[in-house]
Amino acid sequence: MEGLSISSEPPSGNLARKIKSELAEIIEDPSRCPELWNDWRWQLKNRITTLDLIRELIPLTRREEEGIKRAKGRLKMGITPYFFSLIDRQDPKCPVRKQAIPRLEEFGVSSCEMVDPCGEDSHSPVPGLVHRYPDRVLLIVTDSCAMYCRYCTRKRMVGEEHPPMSTEQFENAYKYIKSKKSIRDVLISGGDPLMMKTEVLEHYISRLRSISHIEIIRIGTRVPVTLPMRVNTELVEMLRKYHPLYLSIHFSHPREITPDVARSCAMLADAGIPLGSQTVLLRGVNDRPVVMKKLMHELLKIRVRPYYLYQCDMAMGTGHFRTPVSVGMNIMEELRGHTTGYAVPTFVVDAPGGGGKIPITPTYLVSQAKGKATLRNYEFKIFNYTEPE
Ligand SMILES: *Cc1c(COP(=O)(O)O)cnc(C)c1O
Ligand code: SF4
Repeated sequence: MEGLSISSEPPSGNLARKIKSELAEIIEDPSRCPELWNDWRWQLKNRITTLDLIRELIPLTRREEEGIKRAKGRLKMGITPYFFSLIDRQDPKCPVRKQAIPRLEEFGVSSCEMVDPCGEDSHSPVPGLVHRYPDRVLLIVTDSCAMYCRYCTRKRMVGEEHPPMSTEQFENAYKYIKSKKSIRDVLISGGDPLMMKTEVLEHYISRLRSISHIEIIRIGTRVPVTLPMRVNTELVEMLRKYHPLYLSIHFSHPREITPDVARSCAMLADAGIPLGSQTVLLRGVNDRPVVMKKLMHELLKIRVRPYYLYQCDMAMGTGHFRTPVSVGMNIMEELRGHTTGYAVPTFVVDAPGGGGKIPITPTYLVSQAKGKATLRNYEFKIFNYTEPE
């Protein structure tokens, strides 16, 4: 089975120059060519993957130029024109830009960083499946994404744009899941599952649905944010047939919540799909409490319930994105009690080496003695709770 057709061979010479300037014009003003702009196949075909092209579109810093050159052999650069259009071209510190354009810092690896920071490969009973927790599994169906996040925790396996999991590989994973009655939840991830053809994804989902002990199916995706036009009626009508089905959408910054993204989430929510968010805490992108709070508020407005805030994993070349754990704790402190409870995600560290997600919260239980719990609230006021005899 094949994935979406993605052409990554850049054209050259005069043709390339012509395409470049056309693309620059469309990015400048998408309303010139809405039929192209709103066509996700066009968006994928015209992804920005080369230094030549991006130079034409944006003044690069030296560190970015170097980063893009070096990225060729590693997690490659790939940015949809749509996502690129969210970049502030005059601002090297733009939070969208930092996520999408490689920088030289990516190639300075520190000794603690790992190829497989969450020990996924060592918890894999059959290829493509990670079984870490007793009752749920992670199924990795493709290595392709619409846009490659520079901080990706799975950069070891993402971005080669191999064909998705083969039928044979899927059948092996399927057999494993079917044989383990304790598994009640399958999380389909990648790469990005929504990069697959709808009928291929449907084949996987419907096979999983046919297993009587599978209660819920979840999909982890960033496509509604980086390629919102992919969320169309065909896709949504397919997904809604397999309820209860949940979607976890990867968001990083309030600037990502555009009218297009709002529309894609509305379609999914209207189809009865509960939407959750996943956000990686990133230095210089979303590490200020005001930015994170704004993101959480904007998510609730488009019916996405904040789910996880992740400490950035110790993946190779992520040092410039990682923050101290206290930064996340402080953000949690500034959310809980200060805003809607629904706007408060769970802050987790995915334990290096494979211990699973470990929640981190500020301490509200000040002390506990016999029959009494002493607590503090979000304003640091102290309260006593007397326990029953
Ligand atoms: C995150 C993850 C899950 C799902 O965890 P939840 O806390 O249930 O969302 C399952 N398996 C693996 C390997 C994971 O990394
Ligand atoms: S969308 Fe997810 S899997 Fe893909 S590059 Fe970004 S973080 Fe990695």
